[in-house]
Order: sequence, then structure tokens, then C-alpha cells
Amino acid sequence: MKVSLRTILAWICWPMARLANLGSPGIRILMYHRVDSLPEYDQLTVSPSLFRQQMEFLAKRYRVIPMSQALTELASGKITRNTVVITFDDGYHDNLVHALPVLKEFSLPATVFITTGFAARKMQHPRYANPPKNLHMDWREIEQWQAHEGNEVGAHSRTHPYLSRLPDEQSVEEISGCLNDFARAGMSHNGIFCYPSGDVTDREARYVQEAGYIAAVTVSPGVNYLGANRYWLRRTEITDRDDISSFRLKLDGAFDFMHVMLHVRRQRQFARAAHAK
Ligand SMILES: [Zn+2]
Repeated sequence: MKVSLRTILAWICWPMARLANLGSPGIRILMYHRVDSLPEYDQLTVSPSLFRQQMEFLAKRYRVIPMSQALTELASGKITRNTVVITFDDGYHDNLVHALPVLKEFSLPATVFITTGFAARKMQHPRYANPPKNLHMDWREIEQWQAHEGNEVGAHSRTHPYLSRLPDEQSVEEISGCLNDFARAGMSHNGIFCYPSGDVTDREARYVQEAGYIAAVTVSPGVNYLGANRYWLRRTEITDRDDISSFRLKLDGAFDFMHVMLHVRRQRQFARAAHAK
């Protein structure tokens, strides 16, 4: 078995993370993107078989709640230990094909964050070369996603830009215009925003609040405790490298310290890019 340095560090951090969990439980929001079998490793894609193992593990040992319920519980002051939320970004079609049947099998709810330009099939996420036409779910397919009990849909901008690099007006347009697109398509949503590429500064958080969203999720790692800022909710990225052993360490927060260190560097890059615009 190949054991990476990050896994060794996680095992070292694990007892402290467990102890912190016992003392003060929080809600962990998992971040997925794609669930598919791709020919090459992609950080944003988890294979269908591993995804099924991860969901089976969650169903047996964790309390998985819808995103909107998490907000209620964060505000109510009652957080139950081992509470988890499942989210997917970008609205990939493979979520419908490979993730939804598994969520149904284990009766687990999840939220998908939709970029409205993708759902309208006007554009696609630029990450993938030669993508199929249906890389993303269209509005009718998103309705199929919503039909599963507890599944929700949130907003992920109109065109998936780096928001902090945009002039004020354009940034507002991406954030509030996204809600207009939902209304025009006759689609319901949970009123929660997801910052594209995790790019957020105080300005974007303010615009999201002013547009009427009730909360927003970031890619800041870690768990959400009572009194967490609703417009800066933390998430934990799950990748195809997270076999059940690594998945369990992540759920216990053993990777949080390492991920926070990496994230601080990333935030500095965003701040420099926003400053240079
Ligand atoms: Zn995205």
C-alpha cells in the first residue's frame, strides 16, 4: 500500500481532530463536482464505485441533512455530532446518471449548485477539452434532480467567472442575474449561493447578501460551528483519492489543518488578482 505524506500528516493530526469534534461538534459540508469514470485522474471527479462506497459509509455512520436544514440547525444552537451535508458544484450531467441513483439507494439528500449559463446550454465549464454537448444538466434534468426527497438546487453565478476580478457592476450582475435566470426558467432554489472557484472577497459576500441570498458556501476548508458566518460557510473537498480510510480521516477533520494552510496561500493569490484588476 502506498502511503502519501499527506496521509501520514493526517494520521498525526487525527487524535486532536477527534478530540475537537467531541468537545464542539460542527456541521461538515462535503464538496463534490463530477461522479464519472474518466480515462485520466481529475481532481474534480470521483469514480461511481468509490462514490457509492463513500455514500454507503455516510448512510451507516453519519446524519446527512439537506443544506437548508443545516442553516436552520446552525442558527438554532443545536448541532448534533456527525452531521454532514453533501453538495455538488456546476451541475454536471453525470450527477444525474451516477450520483442520483446512489443517493436514492441510501436515501441521502444533496444540493447541486447551478451555473445558469450551463443549464441553458449556452456554455460549458472550460475545464474539459472536447466535452459532450450534455456535460451539464439542462433545466428539465435539474427538475429530475430536485424530485428526490431532500435534494436541493442552489446558485453558482451566470457564467462561472472569477467574481473578484470583475468590475462592480458585472460582479453584481453575475450574482443577482443568476436569480433572475432561475425565475425565468420557472425553477425553485434554496436561496444559497456558491462562489465560483471559491473566489470571494468581502465585496462578493456583500453583493450576495444584498441580492437576497440567505447564505453562501466557499471552498475554505473545515467544519461549520455555531455562529458561523452564513456567507462564508466552509466545505471539505472530496476527491477520487479518498478511499474509505482517507474519507473517514477527512470527515473527522484530520486534513483540516493542512488544508487551511494551503487555502491561506490560495486566498492571497485571489486577493492579489483582485487588486490587480
Ligand atoms: Zn464551479
